[in-house]
Amino acid sequence: KIYHDDDADVNIVRSKTVAFIGYGNQGRAQALNLRDSEVNNIIIGNIDDDYAKQAQEDGFTPVSIEEAVRQGDILMLLIPDEDQQTVWNEKIRNNIKPNTTLVVASGYNVAFNLLDLPDDMDVVMVAPRMIGAGVRDRYVQNIPYPCFVSVEKDVSGTALATCLSIACAIGATRGNGAVSSSCREEAGIDLFAEQALWPEIMAIFREGYNVLHEAGFSDEAILFDMYLSKEPAEIFERAADEGFVKQLKYHSRTSQYGQLSTMNRHDGKDIREKFRRVLNDNILSGNFAKKWSNTKWAAEELTKEWKEVENAPIVQADQRVREVLKPDRKK
Ligand code: NDP
Repeated sequence: KIYHDDDADVNIVRSKTVAFIGYGNQGRAQALNLRDSEVNNIIIGNIDDDYAKQAQEDGFTPVSIEEAVRQGDILMLLIPDEDQQTVWNEKIRNNIKPNTTLVVASGYNVAFNLLDLPDDMDVVMVAPRMIGAGVRDRYVQNIPYPCFVSVEKDVSGTALATCLSIACAIGATRGNGAVSSSCREEAGIDLFAEQALWPEIMAIFREGYNVLHEAGFSDEAILFDMYLSKEPAEIFERAADEGFVKQLKYHSRTSQYGQLSTMNRHDGKDIREKFRRVLNDNILSGNFAKKWSNTKWAAEELTKEWKEVENAPIVQADQRVREVLKPDRKK
């Protein structure tokens, strides 16, 4: 189901106190959009740092997260996913008013039951498929942007109306409208892209480089052909605009034949098995989310992975080529 402006009543959110937990990427964009939609009772919860300074410059008076939670009828939980469980337990859970609505911008913490939710709390998702700057710019320019919405817990019986009211006030129900989804679906697809699809694509580029390098081709030529020319970005843009396969019509006939004849014969069995294992065993089981909530472990593991990738031949070739290109770029 797709929801449009007509399905929403912005007056619902206008009559509430909306507390923002976090004033980063999404927090700032959504708070400014709500204010421009004449939502007048907005409280920003943030520690006293650069984000709070930004909120002040934007005309808000930031308070502590605890204080924002105490005042809010609607809580916009807009801090990084991996920090939400800890902040929830330490600063949010004990300060929530009765009959509050929680709004998340990604499904992760709700889908994997990482938040201890009060019984009387409604839970909805309003998840823009867009970085914060895009959410703000498009609102100002009156351009639609894609967004997923869902009702996860409806104690009041009015959770959908509240959800759509917020989506409309941040500009997410314009144009083609906001798409009905769920936290499980949003988090599942997002994590699948991060843990199955894109790593496989990156590994394919890595191995492509290794084979071409072994064959004696130059780093500059390989990397330009693979991505430095930005051709892949253009291909994906056309795939989005005209169709995943239809964009092939912009390639030469030789290229079309090469791509189609190889892809049509690729049985994909091994990769499908691998993808299923990642989706079921790691993602939907909640195993990954449980591990990733251990923020100390998560930070250490991420540092380790960054260290390891520095030695990959494609990464070193990328650095060498950039060094060579630098003087030309400046001209
Ligand atoms: P940001 O990294 O921009 O969030 C920064 C904000 O979170 C700041 O206000 C910061 O305050 C606060 N914060 C960070 N760590 C903590 C902590 N440990 N305790 C308290 N506050 C903290 O996040 P995003 O806006 O990128 O993401 C917010 C939500 O939006 C997430 O659920 C994300 O999945 C979702 N989302 C993000 C999109 C994006 O493009 N970025 C797109 C769609 C959804 P301070 O550090 O000062 O305490």
